[in-house]
Amino acid sequence: MEAKKKDIRALTKEQLRDFFVSQGDKAFRGNQVYEWLWQKSAHSFEGMTNLSKATRDMLEANFVINHIKVDQMQRSNDGTIKNAVRLHDNLVVESVLIPTSSRTTACVSSQVGCSLDCRFCATARLKRMRNLNPDEIYDQVVAIDNESRLYFDRPLSNIVFMGMGEPLMNYNNVLKAIDKITSTEGLAMSPKRITVSTSGVPKMIKKMADDGVRFKLAVSLHSAIDEIRTRIMPFNATFTLADLREALEYWYAKTRSRITYEYVVWRGINDTQKDVDALVDFCRFAPSKVNLIEYNPIDDGEFQQASNSAIDMYVNTLERNGITVTVRRSRGKDIDAACGQLANKQ
Ligand code: SAH
Repeated sequence: MEAKKKDIRALTKEQLRDFFVSQGDKAFRGNQVYEWLWQKSAHSFEGMTNLSKATRDMLEANFVINHIKVDQMQRSNDGTIKNAVRLHDNLVVESVLIPTSSRTTACVSSQVGCSLDCRFCATARLKRMRNLNPDEIYDQVVAIDNESRLYFDRPLSNIVFMGMGEPLMNYNNVLKAIDKITSTEGLAMSPKRITVSTSGVPKMIKKMADDGVRFKLAVSLHSAIDEIRTRIMPFNATFTLADLREALEYWYAKTRSRITYEYVVWRGINDTQKDVDALVDFCRFAPSKVNLIEYNPIDDGEFQQASNSAIDMYVNTLERNGITVTVRRSRGKDIDAACGQLANKQ
């Protein structure tokens, strides 16, 4: 039986160079192929026109290029685009293009499903099926960059890891993808325009700080009171607020990069003065700002968006305490593309 062909995009540039040397060719050939794979997003060896036919055939015999395929594209009436992305093994993830007047933001997935169990999130119900490979993350970004150029006449400007999955549970691959995205051999995007959003894995937040990453950090906080946070995000029983806080202090000390807290206010869950006071206290540990996100209902109504007066109380209290707060309206709700709604409904 024919040996299973390797995924060529799992190789580093060095490994590609070594491969060509092992074939009696020049190392430089590895650079050429690398450029085809990453900068030019080639989908086939045949299209690598500066290689000889013999070289292309040799690559074909040894490797595959596993590209994602945008199976289905839905456009919201607010301009948001949702891609259903089919992977080489037929699993599907979703990614979203969010346009504003001046920016295009890509919201990308890091896992198929999710290993965490946030009670208000549709993706949590899918369970984690597998981690995405670096190239599968990178390809989602390239697809959205292309769509941005096509439909909005401008390149992609920002990336948020707020699609399916917990990026810090797939840290190595997320980091490799970001390396490609920011490299001049990839998309040459500034890391300042990339935000990794985590539900808060303390050990990994510290590791990121140690690794000297330069992208931004957002934490899905939703409550600064352990008992309540554990009720809505059960993994908080293991990764407690005290541990999270310590990790965030460590992060700020090392990176000097302000943290964004994402926060949904729900009726009867975290909509009292006591809740906002706890948030204010939490915000004092490291320079931070708060993004109040609108709740996107996923089902039966256990969770409901809080009243406008509760939101006003949050905004007023935070502002009075000198904490920057923004209230973010949802985008793409009509096509289930908003935060927490990604669940491969099709
Ligand atoms: N696992 C990462 C990234 C994915 S979730 C994280 O937890 O940060 C992206 C954001 O959407 C998170 O802030 C998450 O808490 C929020 N979210 C999840 N379900 C939601 C819902 N139904 N409505 C609004 N926001 C939701």
